[in-house]
Amino acid sequence: MRNEASPLRGRIAGELDRLRREQLLRTLDCPAGIPLTSNDYLGLARDGRLASATADAIREIGRVGSTGSRLLAGNSEDWEQAEREFAAFAGTEAALYFSSGFAANLGLLGALVRPGDIVFSDSLNHASLIDGIRLSGANKVIYPHGDLARLETALARHQSDPGAKLIVTESLFSMEGDLAPLARLAELGREYGAELIVDEAHAVGVFGPEGRGLAYEAGLANEILAVVHTCGKALGSAGAFVCSGGALRDFLVNRARTFIFSTAAPPYLAHQIRAAVGLARAMDAERAHLQTIAAALREGLRSEGFDVRASASQIVPVVAGASEAALAWAESLREDGFAVRAIRPPTVPEGTARLRLSLTAALGGEEVQRLLRACVRARGRSRLAVAARESGA
Ligand SMILES: *Cc1c(COP(=O)(O)O)cnc(C)c1O
Repeated sequence: MRNEASPLRGRIAGELDRLRREQLLRTLDCPAGIPLTSNDYLGLARDGRLASATADAIREIGRVGSTGSRLLAGNSEDWEQAEREFAAFAGTEAALYFSSGFAANLGLLGALVRPGDIVFSDSLNHASLIDGIRLSGANKVIYPHGDLARLETALARHQSDPGAKLIVTESLFSMEGDLAPLARLAELGREYGAELIVDEAHAVGVFGPEGRGLAYEAGLANEILAVVHTCGKALGSAGAFVCSGGALRDFLVNRARTFIFSTAAPPYLAHQIRAAVGLARAMDAERAHLQTIAAALREGLRSEGFDVRASASQIVPVVAGASEAALAWAESLREDGFAVRAIRPPTVPEGTARLRLSLTAALGGEEVQRLLRACVRARGRSRLAVAARESGA
């Protein structure tokens, strides 16, 4: 083992020291307690029916790995069928599966736009969307989160620029829990000649008729250039579909590097996802329960004076402010039996460190009331600790 100093080893140690000093160091924990960080909104990841469907598929296929890229040995009717079915579910003509949502967004944006084009991107868009835009080399205009007036001004300013225009947004924002005004975004796109891409990672399975997502619910699935649905959250599985017209699918098969140069996902996953969609479609009761407990939590927190932003979903942020406060709140909630994590910069803007409570349909109403009381206690404990420190005690 080498241990002499080198610039890279110095950088690694220096960066870790800095993160530790600034209370920003992230560590990998195995959460214990009532889970409030899970994206398994419908409980499908633990659903025995999904596990059996997967085991059956492995047995029937008689093979686990896909053995190659989709363009080589990795393609199979398993995936073709899953894509046709998912497109029908999403309300689009076609769909193409990627092995993760991150890969889908990198592949899609990296292939679609290029230098000279302009991408209008919400300031709170997911890292995979940001990196996809970066990778493409297109110019980007970041508009303040949800600020359509600012977006419109930017669209107008660039209206006569020669390149292609694209608006990119999440439908349900993962750190704020609020919903994008999709109908108005589509309207602006039409008005100013910009296409629209919508990432439904946190909405699929949870919103829309049978969990088909917010673009479907708004009647826009067919109009939007591409809707990205991930399968690792409410669908309890893994990967993501880019849902679009047939031409965009053909284009991605030829141009999306994360699709072309990556081993196809195992064919049993295609069956798992088909089963997951089938189960999710029938989970209206779970969806309704989830919205009921989320509304109760938001209202309870608001009436206790907490800042839960504009949350309108199963994702409820509780803003603490400083990273240190968010860490203390999370620790207090853990002591009360709730598995939560503090979300700190750079994931969220400076000064808005927070707890991100992510509810699942498995939670009961009584647990949500206990959670509410635990939040009040966490804030109280943390204020006491600050007061004690300031008085030099
Ligand atoms: C989680 C997430 C992704 C990434 O999907 P993975 O399948 O986890 O790679 C992409 N976009 C958004 C908005 C997400 O929340």
